[in-house]
Amino acid sequence: MRIAVVFKDRCQPKRCNLECIAFCPPQRTGTEVIWIDPETTKAAISEETCIACGICVKKCPFDAIRIIGLPEELKEDLVHQYGKNAFRLFRLPVPKKGEVIGLLGPNGIGKTTAISLLSGELPPNLGHYRRKKAYWDDVLEYFAGTELHDYLEKIAGKELKTAIKPQYVDKLNKVYSGRVRDLLTRIDERGRLDELTSSLSLESFLDRDIAQLSGGELQRVAVAATMLKDVDIYFFDEPSSYLDIYQRLQVAKVIQSLSKDKYVVVVEHDLAVLDFLADHVFLMYGEEGAYGIIAQPRAVRTAITLPGSSRVSVAALRPTCMTSTSGGGMAPGPGPAEPLLSFGLQAASRDRNKNRARRFMACPFREQRRAGSNPPPAPFSRA
Ligand code: SF4
Ligand code: SF4
Repeated sequence: MRIAVVFKDRCQPKRCNLECIAFCPPQRTGTEVIWIDPETTKAAISEETCIACGICVKKCPFDAIRIIGLPEELKEDLVHQYGKNAFRLFRLPVPKKGEVIGLLGPNGIGKTTAISLLSGELPPNLGHYRRKKAYWDDVLEYFAGTELHDYLEKIAGKELKTAIKPQYVDKLNKVYSGRVRDLLTRIDERGRLDELTSSLSLESFLDRDIAQLSGGELQRVAVAATMLKDVDIYFFDEPSSYLDIYQRLQVAKVIQSLSKDKYVVVVEHDLAVLDFLADHVFLMYGEEGAYGIIAQPRAVRTAITLPGSSRVSVAALRPTCMTSTSGGGMAPGPGPAEPLLSFGLQAASRDRNKNRARRFMACPFREQRRAGSNPPPAPFSRA
């Protein structure tokens, strides 16, 4: 399966010479592959007729195109696509009552999309992006027999109430105004304001205006406001940004206390916070702005203690054998492996090297081997 992505914000047909169309080989021989969509006034690519040569990717002066090769089987797992040649998300995590589920992955890979889909804010379209209305019957049929079916059935029937802590807390003061205390008192459906004031250290700015708060203070107000709502599912989108390590642990502790009888989903970049907080982690990988894949869940201890995983940054969670290309066409070969699988492969190769080194150290002829000369023949050699 190949996917073609056109970054609409970068594509500027009025400022280029339409190189993508002019140099596209099948287009030059009369097959319609790439054109300017009159509706969006941006380039549009047919994924059916594109041969994935990658020429348009190289020729576009604004770096507006990605052509990516993915395994055919992933077609079955497409959960949501925003539009033609737009971002798509494969698979969804399964929230579980009484557990904190963590989503870990780099930026632009669909973590916030996953939250919107799981909260019902954005009904999954299974790739049918032209449909404007929600087709929950199709979605439920698609997920029939899976763990997600029961959960999505409740979301579709509006049986579950949700609260979302948004990612961009710095915009809070544009939406709300007035004293922090007044805002939180208004929201407090669970009668836990005093408790949260102390556990999140809100006392020092409770009587200040929201417009005067720093990023870290806004983050804690947003976490408190989400937790004060009496709902069934809580989503926290990056609750540790702007916070120091002490405040991160404070926030992690209060979020964890929620999970006893609720669904809790946390999107995070910080592996240490997820280690402390989550029961299961879903790793996400893909290409920023183009596609995201949610890997199978791992118990958090297993996920982060895999050899090498604690030392890699989130950006390094990308699979090592991915064939996605941004310039050189689509190479045939293995598709994206799950990151943990590739960690496993790297670990196996490291182990092989270690064993080789151990054998070398045990070898009585290692000095000769190091010097490049052959060891003497074995005494019982038949040669
Ligand atoms: S994709 Fe690039 S070359 Fe093609 S129309 Fe857009 S900006 Fe121009
Ligand atoms: S990858 Fe090749 S075939 Fe596909 S749209 Fe670009 S130039 Fe045309």
